[in-house]
This record gives sequence, structure tokens and C-alpha cells, in this order.
Amino acid sequence: MDEAMEKRWRELSEEVLSGMKEWRLAHPKATLREIEEAASERMSRLEAQLVQGTALASSQRKWSQLPEEEQPRCRVCELLLRERGEHARKLQGKGGKEITLKRQYGTCPLCGVGLFPPG
Ligand SMILES: [Zn+2]
Repeated sequence: MDEAMEKRWRELSEEVLSGMKEWRLAHPKATLREIEEAASERMSRLEAQLVQGTALASSQRKWSQLPEEEQPRCRVCELLLRERGEHARKLQGKGGKEITLKRQYGTCPLCGVGLFPPG
């Protein structure tokens, strides 16, 4: 586990906890539904960071080090993709939170289509 990432997670957890406490003080008459919404909004922010950090930590493999049958192929031509290095890929997480992953990107040597393999 990356130390900077772990620190970021701790800070964010603290923010969630203290933010919720402050929110409660500012909304002493909140209904259960409002409390649920406030908590869920904060948790989904933390969740997005956990997902992003964990996914990043497991994405360091290079295709070329994989056995050929596990390397990604063009869906149309079924040729092995050429590695084009890492590109940032933005995904929609749960609750609409944007998650940025660095993923290997490849292009097909025949049709030139570029894609991120699943994962
Ligand atoms: Zn192709």
C-alpha cells in the first residue's frame, strides 16, 4: 500500500467524520432522510477514493509481461493490441462520482482502433 494514498484515505475519513459532526450541529432538526442523504453523500466521496486508490494500486502490470492468451485483442480483428502506454481513463463511479484511473491503452495494428482492455 502506497503511503501517500493511505494518508489521503485517513484525511478523507477524518473529513467525512468531522464534516458529518458539523453538519449535524448546523442541522439540529434534520429528519432521518436528510441525515441519511448527508451521510451517504460523504460516504460516496470516500468510497470513490477507496475504489480509485485500490484500482490504481492493482493496475501496474504491463500486458507484454502477460502470457499471450491473456493479452488484450482487438474485438473486431482479434489481433493482439499494441501497447501505447498509460492513459488516464475517467469512469463514472457509483453515485455519479468521477473516478480517474491510469490504464494501459492499446491500438489494433490492423484497424487502428484504440481501446482500454476491461479491468
Ligand atoms: Zn482491429
